[in-house]
Amino acid sequence: MAGETDGAVPAGTTVFDDAVPGVANLDPALLDALRQAATDAEADWVKFFVDSGWRSPEYQAQLLHEAIAKYGSEEEAARWVATPTTSAHVSGDAVDIGRTDAAAWLSDHGAQYGLCQIYSNEPWHYELRPEAVDHGCPPRYADPTDDPRMQR
Ligand SMILES: [Zn+2]
Repeated sequence: MAGETDGAVPAGTTVFDDAVPGVANLDPALLDALRQAATDAEADWVKFFVDSGWRSPEYQAQLLHEAIAKYGSEEEAARWVATPTTSAHVSGDAVDIGRTDAAAWLSDHGAQYGLCQIYSNEPWHYELRPEAVDHGCPPRYADPTDDPRMQR
């Protein structure tokens, strides 16, 4: 099973936990944006937790195997979990934010930090889109199978 060094994130981890590889190995610009947003959200009594951030390719492969077992086919699993070569988590460019109140806060305010929800079926999954600061977030994909980056 994947451990913390593979990107497994202990419960209660926040965007400020530099000692957790799943946080520390995120793209620095994404991490900066998350920390600015989290600091401002505190004024609204909202705390950002990291449910998942950077993941090693091995951890991503494990998650994909688990998803195939859960959903019964590679096609259905692909709607939820990317491969080690396509996942934005493996490249450090994606974060899954908890809890529900934090995801809701980001839905309302994330664009001004360049933080955008990418997939309609994953309200917790955020990536950095710097152009969103001026232009708003791009239209969402229904799920990852509609994302050209996910084509293998
Ligand atoms: Zn995600």
